[in-house]
Amino acid sequence: MITINENYLKLQASYLFSDIAKRVAAFQENNPETDVIKLGIGDVTKGLPQACIKAFHQAVDEMADDSSFRGYGPEQGYDFLREAIAVNDFQSRGADISADEIFVSDGAKCDTGNIQELFTEDITIAIPDPVYPVYLDTNVMAGRTGHFDNGRYEGIVYLNSTQENGFVPSIPKEKVDLIYLCFPNNPTGSTISKDELKKWVDYARDNKALILFDAAYEAFIRDDSLPKSIFEIEGAREVAIEFRSFSKSAGFTGTRCAFTVVPKECRAYDSQGVIHQIHEFWNRRHCTKFNGVSYPVQRAAEAVYSEEGKGQTVELIQYYLRNANLICNEIEALGYQYDGGKNSPYIWIDGRRDSWDFFDMLLNEAGVVCTPGAGFGSCGEGYIRISAFNSYENVEEAMRRIAEKLK
Ligand code: PLP
Repeated sequence: MITINENYLKLQASYLFSDIAKRVAAFQENNPETDVIKLGIGDVTKGLPQACIKAFHQAVDEMADDSSFRGYGPEQGYDFLREAIAVNDFQSRGADISADEIFVSDGAKCDTGNIQELFTEDITIAIPDPVYPVYLDTNVMAGRTGHFDNGRYEGIVYLNSTQENGFVPSIPKEKVDLIYLCFPNNPTGSTISKDELKKWVDYARDNKALILFDAAYEAFIRDDSLPKSIFEIEGAREVAIEFRSFSKSAGFTGTRCAFTVVPKECRAYDSQGVIHQIHEFWNRRHCTKFNGVSYPVQRAAEAVYSEEGKGQTVELIQYYLRNANLICNEIEALGYQYDGGKNSPYIWIDGRRDSWDFFDMLLNEAGVVCTPGAGFGSCGEGYIRISAFNSYENVEEAMRRIAEKLK
């Protein structure tokens, strides 16, 4: 008899974005004339930078010719891309990361979801609330939690991100083994200072813990005093893994390219207390279960680091940040409190009411889709997330409609 992994039964019935999609579809069916503006899901809307398109085309042409054709590539990614990443994203900021510590993949979603399988079932995990749901759900699937009760899974140490702590969680009082952090944060848009991040690194070092640092939104950081990488913090190489993605930095959500940084010193322990290199384990996993990102996509990603590409990606990010700024100004003028939107494409708004009610109100009365904060965790209750990923004209129109309703 084939038996099922019953941990899946503990998962909450429906994934947040499919719930939203259902409500939007129902609204659209009843209101076919309304032009719904989507500021919900964090998907980019602008085309790929020209430098990437040029490199992409060129690489596709290479695939047509026997002499330049490429079949299976290295599972960890081509050296040309790993080198470009190491130099531009890390070494240029004083972070000591080398090309062979970078694992190119088809998404930070897969990597943040898959990494937990390197660790035993009985570790204690700390997860922020609210949170990007992948960290939590993949640990539920792996059997590291009890049941969902009163909005939370048993067995998880939740790191509350609230207005009181500026949406930067405090170090837990109890001892934890695996810590998920994400800055700039999805969904709150908050950022972390170097001093605050250093406290987490010190905690991990003192407790033989590991930090999984999701920096998928680092490209939105404009305040140069903020860390873009956890490896800008002294001592992080032994206790941190970082996830990055070209999805938001260069519009690759549909093209798919990301990478995970696992320093050689990064360590975990076996039941006898013997130290193991996580790099070796991740490499083994990656080579066994993944066969590399396509050659043209990696060439397109490499082009992000060309002079032309750098300029174009900055422009892309500035475009979305201009949208974010408009949203912040309008929300402030309406007298609502918010966080994010400065070094992040997300604006986290205190709706002063049930977050699904607020979602429904914006959808039904303004034809604007946001994301209800409660979908990201119980601390998200009362909040909504508005994303800056849309055209400036659409954001302007959405904010005009919202202002009309909320004034
Ligand atoms: N990490 C965070 C915090 C995200 O918000 C997202 C996507 O929205 C991802 C990772 C996924 O990135 P990718 O497109 O590389 O899978």
